[in-house]
Amino acid sequence: MAKRTKNSGLVYSTESGRICPGCGRPVGDCQCKKRQQAAVEGDGKVRISLSTKGRKGKGMTLVTGLALPPGELKALAKELKQKCGTGGTVKQGVIEIQGDRRELLKELLRDQL
Ligand SMILES: [Zn+2]
Repeated sequence: MAKRTKNSGLVYSTESGRICPGCGRPVGDCQCKKRQQAAVEGDGKVRISLSTKGRKGKGMTLVTGLALPPGELKALAKELKQKCGTGGTVKQGVIEIQGDRRELLKELLRDQL
């Protein structure tokens, strides 16, 4: 019986004791998730870009590369949303702010850039 884990999408067999391709450890001792939780998806090089995909041309500003733990990332996203007066979300270490807010975000994130 193969089982698909909710978080990683990793498929493994309970019988074979497969090795995780991500970290090279037995699946039961996989470090990938832990690594993600420790969070630092970003390399500390913050980038601000505009994505128009799926937003009917309205666009959404992406802030990537922030080397922050999830809690702080969320707090920062909240602050940015408030300052931009718009909605947004955090997805896999990327802050998404609705609309083209690149100029404002550059100002707001100047200390981190
Ligand atoms: Zn792994």
